[in-house]
Amino acid sequence: MKPLAAGNWKMNGLKASVSEIMALKDRLDGTAPACDVLICPPATLVMSLADAAAGSVIQIGGQDCHSAVSGPHTGDVSAAMLKDAGASAVIVGHSERRADHGETSETVKAKAQAAIAEGLVAIVCLGETLAEHEAGDTLSVVHAQLNGSLPDGATGATTIVAYEPVWAIGSGLTPTAEQVAEVHQAIRAGLSAMTSAEEAHLIRILYGGSVKPSNAAELMAIDNVNGALVGGASLKADDFAGIIAAM
Ligand code: PEP
Repeated sequence: MKPLAAGNWKMNGLKASVSEIMALKDRLDGTAPACDVLICPPATLVMSLADAAAGSVIQIGGQDCHSAVSGPHTGDVSAAMLKDAGASAVIVGHSERRADHGETSETVKAKAQAAIAEGLVAIVCLGETLAEHEAGDTLSVVHAQLNGSLPDGATGATTIVAYEPVWAIGSGLTPTAEQVAEVHQAIRAGLSAMTSAEEAHLIRILYGGSVKPSNAAELMAIDNVNGALVGGASLKADDFAGIIAAM
């Protein structure tokens, strides 16, 4: 299955950041990346980045969407709005949203289903906190989040799962290859139980948490790792291009 390099810009980026997409386009021009490439900027930049990326391999996505199609939800963005602005995917259930906005797996599932209903690919994030990790609860936490957050009828075409240990995000720490392999294998088994063995093997499982050009190849070589969700290192075209090259 073709891996995915997905960048999450979080709450970073102004109009001038379009230059990073132009730089990434230049870096990728004439190369044939072995992976799909997605950048998820803040909602304010989806339209301008989608315009800037047009005609290249770079796809643009959102970082969150509301579960409703429209209505009285001040400050929120719907899946239809992201699609209209040029997005092809949206991240849902990022640990920062689960923590900062109290999002439950039930909310995340509703958002994923709303995204898919609008034709967006839903990137469903899962991951344990440091306390859960240290308590040996990683697999049970990830299973519970997967069971609660996976959209009904998930397929490889509509859904991507991202395993992001919360303690590895932005910390420079990464789990060992064995730990990543164990969790990704468990997610694959969970997907098999929730869909079918055939479909489960078509659903990409990304690893996220302090991925950088220097560790990307090693992480991507692990069984059941089908790409990366990248925060900090996606902000600079050179770093992100290095990760893409390692896929
Ligand atoms: C993220 O928040 O999705 C992430 C993986 O961040 P970073 O790469 O900076 O650890």
